Amino acid sequence: MTELFGTNGVRGTINKDMDTDLALQLGKAIGTWIGKDKEVAIGTDTRASNYMLKNAVSSGLMATGCDVIDLGEVPTPALQFYTKGLADFGVAITASHNPPEFNGIKCVNDDGTELIGWMEEEIEDIYFSKDFDLVGWDEVGKKKSDDALDLYSAAIKEKIDEEAIRKAEPKVILDCANGAGCHLTPYLLRELGCEVVTLNAQPDGFFPGHNSEPIKENLQDLIRLTSETDADLGIAHDGDADRTIFIDEDGGYIHGDRTLTLVAEKLVKENKGGTVVTPVSSSSSVADVVEENGGELIYTAVGSPIVARRMIEENAIFGGEENGGLIFADHQFCRDGSMTAAKIVEMVAKEGKLSDMIEELPQYFLEKRGVECPDELKDPLLERLKEIYSETDHDDTDGLKIYYDEGWVLIRASGTEPKYRIYSEATDEIKAERLADEHQTKVEDILKSI
Ligand code: MG
Repeated sequence: MTELFGTNGVRGTINKDMDTDLALQLGKAIGTWIGKDKEVAIGTDTRASNYMLKNAVSSGLMATGCDVIDLGEVPTPALQFYTKGLADFGVAITASHNPPEFNGIKCVNDDGTELIGWMEEEIEDIYFSKDFDLVGWDEVGKKKSDDALDLYSAAIKEKIDEEAIRKAEPKVILDCANGAGCHLTPYLLRELGCEVVTLNAQPDGFFPGHNSEPIKENLQDLIRLTSETDADLGIAHDGDADRTIFIDEDGGYIHGDRTLTLVAEKLVKENKGGTVVTPVSSSSSVADVVEENGGELIYTAVGSPIVARRMIEENAIFGGEENGGLIFADHQFCRDGSMTAAKIVEMVAKEGKLSDMIEELPQYFLEKRGVECPDELKDPLLERLKEIYSETDHDDTDGLKIYYDEGWVLIRASGTEPKYRIYSEATDEIKAERLADEHQTKVEDILKSI
């Protein structure tokens, strides 16, 4: 973890730890890192502070001789798709699912993937050293505008069986959380042949509908509307529409790991095997369905850029996270909110009720806990845990994952907060709770002793 960049780019509260000075200097640092004469696509979600940050980053980029292509408000995956095809680099101004007072800056490589650790460290070194390669007056970058939405939307349609959707004409309730998804997913789903009813589909950085994290408590209107009408499913995006959460026809909230498992199963079956990549925090149900159908599952550390990069290295067909961030290798190597929505709609059109499909998947129960832990104690704690569990079946890809007969426990430091996270999974709820309780106590005891 670097000082500036977190798990998903640079984030902070507007005019506190995220301001125009930071954005301007970071723009110069990015431009210095990629070199002059590059074309940089820049897009934003719907936050109130977007223009302020976009203009500052753009100024920094132009000062280092890069041209800026302003894509306006777009889902982050649309920016990534555009960058892959038509630019040398991408910058997303977004704080994803964070509250409205936050905003962030995230960088995208020319292949559409997000930057990983060492790349961010190099940019950060330039940022702190202020050793910027500013150009002469006659080399300063220019700015133009372009549209990324049609390009992205058309590419999704090519991957989806439009005819099957037209025939079934599924009724979808779509909650865009007043975020960047407003500009794309309602139109895409209608054009694919769905009957679309929208919620919170006016772009609005005050997030009047609900906070833009698609957790159950924020989706009560969507759940109610989906269950009380004859809708076939409900769909919700986070603020920048790289993640998608689904509600079944009875109003059941479907956790992201269930969707991940469902799509993994389908794609491995269709492909008669293939590699799937997911972080160690994902449900064992993913491994179950992948291996059952002749595929191979690879675990990585937590973080979608890490998953995406590993997918490229392993020539994987699919990957994703338990939070509803799904990555389709035949489309692009990043979390892909509208693509995920279209894929599940296609499955419902072809295969019937979403609740039935979910019910057939292997069933596990997940528990999550948090323990306060000062940053300086994070490493000593992990060392101690590794000593204690050295004889137990374990995996140290990220933190420590300990395997038991009844399930597993993952203990890992939070990348953004002074906290340790404890995840446990088992075949029944009580066992999952017991595993979480026991290991929470263990972590707290160790922290007292060091
Ligand atoms: Mg997001």
